[in-house]
Amino acid sequence: MAERPLTLMAVHAHPDDEATSTGGVLARYADEGVTTVLVTCTDGRCGDGPGGVKPGDPGHDPAAVVAMRRAELAASCAVLKVSHLETLGYADSGMMGWSTNDQPGAFWTTPVAEAAGRLAELIRQYQPDVIVTYDENGFYGHPDHIQAHRITMAAVELTDSPAKVYWTTVPRTAFEQFGRVMRELGVDWAEPDEAVPPLGLPDDEITTWVDANSYGGQKFDALAAHASQTENIFFLQLGRDRFTELMGVETFVRVSDRTGAPTPEDDLFAGLR
Ligand SMILES: [Zn+2]
Repeated sequence: MAERPLTLMAVHAHPDDEATSTGGVLARYADEGVTTVLVTCTDGRCGDGPGGVKPGDPGHDPAAVVAMRRAELAASCAVLKVSHLETLGYADSGMMGWSTNDQPGAFWTTPVAEAAGRLAELIRQYQPDVIVTYDENGFYGHPDHIQAHRITMAAVELTDSPAKVYWTTVPRTAFEQFGRVMRELGVDWAEPDEAVPPLGLPDDEITTWVDANSYGGQKFDALAAHASQTENIFFLQLGRDRFTELMGVETFVRVSDRTGAPTPEDDLFAGLR
C-alpha cells in the first residue's frame, strides 16, 4: 500500500521516559518494519548523578548528569532498535516548583511556539503516520511532560499531520494489580491518595491496548540502560518476568484520527495497513 515504511514518532520529556511508557511499542513496531523516531525534549540534568548523587546535593554536576544520561539514552535506543533519535536539548526543568523551572534554557519556560516550531520541522522531515505523547497533565504533573504535550499538540496543528495522535495512559485496574504485586513482594506500597486527582483512566475510556508482552525483555533491558535513576531501579527489582507481566501491555487514548478505525483497537497503526 504505502511506498514508504510506516513511521511512528514518540515525543518524550527525559531520557528514560521512552522506555517506561513506550518501550514495548517502540520495540514491537521496529520489529514489524516500522520506522521509529524518538524525540527527547530535555537533557535530564535534574536526574540523579553518577554515584546516585541527588539534584541539589553537593557534588551533583549537571554536565556530568547530562553526559551520563545521553549515553544511557543511546544504549536504550539501541536495545529498542529506534531508527532515529532526535534530542531537542532543552534543560530539564526539574519537578514542579523547583528553582530549575525558571533557569535559562529550561524547557518549562521555553515559549511553546518556539519549541513546537522545532518539532514541526522534525514532523515535516520524518512524516510520521502516528505520533505518541502525554496527556495534558503529562500523566503525573511533571512540568517537562506537560510541556512535551503542549509542544506536540501545537506542532501537530502546524503541520496538519499525522493520521493518528495518541496520549499514553495507564488503566486504573493496572494500578490495582501493581499494588497487589508490590504487597506480594513485601514492598511497602502506599495506596494512591484519594484526595489527589487519580492517575490514569478507567478501562472503558482507553481506546488502544497494544500487546507488547513478547517485547517485555527488550523493554526491561531499555529501562536497565537507565539504571542510574532511582525510580527505574525500583522497577528493575521486579525482575524481567514480573516486569513484563505488569508492563507488557501498553495503553493509549486516541485523540486524533483520520483512519476511521473502530475502537477499542489493539494496534496504533490500525486503519493504516
Ligand atoms: Zn520524564
